[in-house]
Amino acid sequence: MPDVKTDILVIGSGIAGLMYAIKMADIASVAMVTKKEAMDSSTNLAQGGIASVFAGTDSFDLHIDDTLASGDGLCNREVVERVIKDGPARITELMQMGVHFNLRRQVGAEPVDPAAFDLGREGGHCQNRIVHAHDMTGQEVERVLVAHARNHPKITLYENHMAIDLITQSTRMKRGLVTTTHEDFCCGAYVLERSTNKVKTFAAKITLLATGGAGKVYLYTSNPDIATGDGIAMAYRAGATVANLEFVQFHPTCLYHPAAKNFLISEAVRGEGGVLLDEAGRPFMGDYDPQKDLACRDVVARAIDTELKKSGADSVFLDITHKKAEFVKERFPNIYAKCLSLGIDITRQPIPVVPAAHYMCGGVVTDIQGRSDVHHLYAVGETACTGLHGANRLASNSLLEALVYADAAAKQSLEDLRAGAFPPPLAPPAWDDVGATDSDEIIMVTHNWDEIRRMMWNYVGIVRSDKRLERARRRIEAVQNEIRDYYWNFKVEPDLIELRNLAVVAELIIKCAQHRKESRGLHYTLEYPRRDDQRWLKDTILRRPFLG
Ligand SMILES: Cc1cc2nc3c(=O)[nH]c(=O)nc-3n(C[C@H](O)[C@H](O)[C@H](O)COP(=O)(O)OP(=O)(O)OC[C@H]3O[C@@H](n4cnc5c(N)ncnc54)[C@H](O)[C@@H]3O)c2cc1C
Repeated sequence: MPDVKTDILVIGSGIAGLMYAIKMADIASVAMVTKKEAMDSSTNLAQGGIASVFAGTDSFDLHIDDTLASGDGLCNREVVERVIKDGPARITELMQMGVHFNLRRQVGAEPVDPAAFDLGREGGHCQNRIVHAHDMTGQEVERVLVAHARNHPKITLYENHMAIDLITQSTRMKRGLVTTTHEDFCCGAYVLERSTNKVKTFAAKITLLATGGAGKVYLYTSNPDIATGDGIAMAYRAGATVANLEFVQFHPTCLYHPAAKNFLISEAVRGEGGVLLDEAGRPFMGDYDPQKDLACRDVVARAIDTELKKSGADSVFLDITHKKAEFVKERFPNIYAKCLSLGIDITRQPIPVVPAAHYMCGGVVTDIQGRSDVHHLYAVGETACTGLHGANRLASNSLLEALVYADAAAKQSLEDLRAGAFPPPLAPPAWDDVGATDSDEIIMVTHNWDEIRRMMWNYVGIVRSDKRLERARRRIEAVQNEIRDYYWNFKVEPDLIELRNLAVVAELIIKCAQHRKESRGLHYTLEYPRRDDQRWLKDTILRRPFLG
């Protein structure tokens, strides 16, 4: 007997998982597992906002063009059109749920006049179209959605519950060893309850992966600690197709300060006129792109990387001191307060910044309804690869994508449930850890965790080469072997689960990067510095071989 039986299992409590859960809960029972507290998510850290067409001067076509240009030839046009055209409805829905966005002027009764939004501008956008809640947009969205989920009688929220592996029809009794045919279907997940160290079996008709990104695979990242690529690794092990993992977006401007962990300086600072300076105080972006400081993220990140390599400096600087202090404090209260707490008054001093891994454009391949190619397994949000971002995500398109796909996946799931097209209920095999003992060598976990992140930063970072990638491939193979030995002998615990997933995601990123013999979007490699549409105008697809 499973420990928990539910219609819908949602893994992850960021914007994607929450929105889907809330929509499904009106007609189905929903169990939502999340590996830490509900608010621990990238969503909660999102500063800039959500891109959508509201301004009178803007149009869907302009937003579509900006998205396609950023995606560098690899976006799926049908997906782009669908996401962008659905944006205003999804944002209005958030407001109706209680999310407060900044408005240019106060408005009276509902419905809110969309023309009243205070719309920000970010790199790669030709119009002001970023709907935001000061510089804490994600926190505002997460606050409202978590409250809705907590209060919904049909949603049971399991905090501090970490999914280990998906259960598929052909899951073998051996711990974590999952084999599938590609006609396989998903029927839940094994989940570790952190407080008791017990592995529970969750049986579900439909499972949604909404586990976010994988920034922690790199040494420097803007992502929170939860971003270890668990969903991508679990889906890959379960036989789902993954794609485009070479396209890792590095945010150009993370605060460089020994006491600041992963603090992002939003792109909106450049959108509001912030200028990047080198150590000598010289603006340098004009040397790299006609759009200067408003160039796309990859261009800016590479420019900073080049400047740092040239000068040997620890950081470059982002200067917004030419703007009125009141404006800066009002527009960026969070960034202002954080920097001030570290002794940097951004109204008077430039901010030291470095690039850091920020967003994973690739992930679990889904169709336009958010379905993966393992039956009854959906993926939404940063975990998914829908075709929207192509080779490079346009700023603030990711929260939008999560909203649109959570809605689409919910509609499709409701249809699935109504049609009742599910195989006979299956008793998932209980977790089997007979013979496993408590770990006696935590050093293996910490050492390999550190090695993977450093190696990925040095060899599979902003600028890649054949030699570095091959070195990385050899290293990750050795680390994988070590982890595998360890994993089968000891009882699972959270750090080990995350390490195993990080190693899988690192391997997949390296494989994708080695495969693509050109430079496009976020993938830049020294041997093939140009885009090659004749050979590489296609996604990089990976699927685990069938293990029999
Ligand atoms: C600092 C920062 C700023 C950003 N700013 C913007 C912005 O302005 N605009 C924009 O569009 N995008 C922005 N992004 C990107 C955007 O925030 C994310 O892409 C988006 O929030 C992802 O939402 P999600 O629901 O897919 O995942 P998340 O919000 O990351 O949620 C993932 C959830 O899954 C849970 N989870 C993970 N693994 C497991 C497991 N094994 N078992 C159980 N639970 C698990 C996590 O605990 C978490 O609850 C930003 C990202 C960062 C890091």
